[in-house]
Amino acid sequence: MPDSPYWNPHTETLPRDRLEALQARKLRDLLEWTFGHAPWQAQRLRDAGVEPGSVRTLQDLRSIPFLTRADWMQAQEADPPYGPVLARAPESAIRYHTTSGTSGSRPLAVLDGPKDWEWIAEMWCYAFWGFGVRPADTVFFAFGYGTFVGFWGAQYACEKLGALVLPGGNMTTEARVRMLAECGATVVCCTPTYALRMAQEARRLGIDLPGSAVQRLILSGEPAGSIPATKALIEDQWGAKAGDTAGMTELGTVMMFECSHQPGGAHIIEDHYIEEVIDPATGAPAGSDELGERVVTSFGRGFIPVLRYRTGDLVCRVPADRCTCGRGFDIYDGGIRGRVDDMKVIRGTNVYPGAVEAIVRRVADVEEFQVRLYTADGIRDEIEVQVELADDGDAVLAELGRELAEAHEGLRFGVRRAEAGSLPRFELKAKRLTDEREVWGGTGERKAM
Ligand SMILES: [Zn+2]
Repeated sequence: MPDSPYWNPHTETLPRDRLEALQARKLRDLLEWTFGHAPWQAQRLRDAGVEPGSVRTLQDLRSIPFLTRADWMQAQEADPPYGPVLARAPESAIRYHTTSGTSGSRPLAVLDGPKDWEWIAEMWCYAFWGFGVRPADTVFFAFGYGTFVGFWGAQYACEKLGALVLPGGNMTTEARVRMLAECGATVVCCTPTYALRMAQEARRLGIDLPGSAVQRLILSGEPAGSIPATKALIEDQWGAKAGDTAGMTELGTVMMFECSHQPGGAHIIEDHYIEEVIDPATGAPAGSDELGERVVTSFGRGFIPVLRYRTGDLVCRVPADRCTCGRGFDIYDGGIRGRVDDMKVIRGTNVYPGAVEAIVRRVADVEEFQVRLYTADGIRDEIEVQVELADDGDAVLAELGRELAEAHEGLRFGVRRAEAGSLPRFELKAKRLTDEREVWGGTGERKAM
């Protein structure tokens, strides 16, 4: 393959009208397949007044009912282990995967067939190639290789494009850092949180990451891959470029990636998905540049039709020309901004964990942090931020409290220093927010952030 900056030079540079014509054709095929092979989905469509042939254009998409995770889960629980959602017999599947289960709910189980798996790798190829990964690269995966789909597809993408894979599953952080340095990894795949943790470990071991062969990090699994302060910290500590990606188990792969021009967001892979952004309260389309919930329709699934699936991810869509790379794919500015149900209301003020992280990472040199919501004196909501500081000075605590309050309509944050090593560390999805308020049931259930 000549060294084009695009994995798929044809589709990645299509003008908008031709891209939409391609989407409309794929949408018609998807509906035809669903009606022909997926009875449960077909019934849902008919119940909403959609008939074979009635969806012709992208505008007709809105006649299709939303599918929520609760719908899917309910169907699965009523008819375990997969539910009636499959379009093929389970015997023809080749992979079993589950969601990570970090939102407090039980994981969703998903089957993939050979066609899914080929496509899953293809989606990751858009991301790797677009961020500059090439066949000569050596790619280290700091990933557990379990039932959570995570970077599984990314590993196959590397094989597909000809890069060398170093599978760092089932290893301690120390062993991973030593291996990636000793084997000359040029690319590292991990969560943003774990990138920082490995950098800490490297400092402890006296391994000079900026002096190592690593040139790129491919981040996934958490919104922080596009939080500017966190990303800058990762790039600084590794001496490498960090690119954000995001996907989900229900798709088996990524649906957006940051290109090597790093536009402060990620391109949507629009020739394989239709992404809509809606007002989570009303379901009406959100405007361009407006924060809303992602709704995805996937053209690549061969086992389970994914039609207008409500993801719960908060995004802000902007046109493709915000980036200078020449792709025609629109961009989620700031990547995934958080989860719709992440938003907390403290004494009337909205608090987003992602916004708190952006401030904490910018103001203080922290090793780790935790946010705790609790009820004081049985009536008053309080928010506390605990930080493990990298150095000895406490002066930054007051400044952090001031900056957090300033960004939250004067809301008072209790900021306190935690002992070194006392806060939880994370490899997969970081859980840095605990809501212990009695009004929410007092379960102390920890939500992913
Ligand atoms: Zn770009």
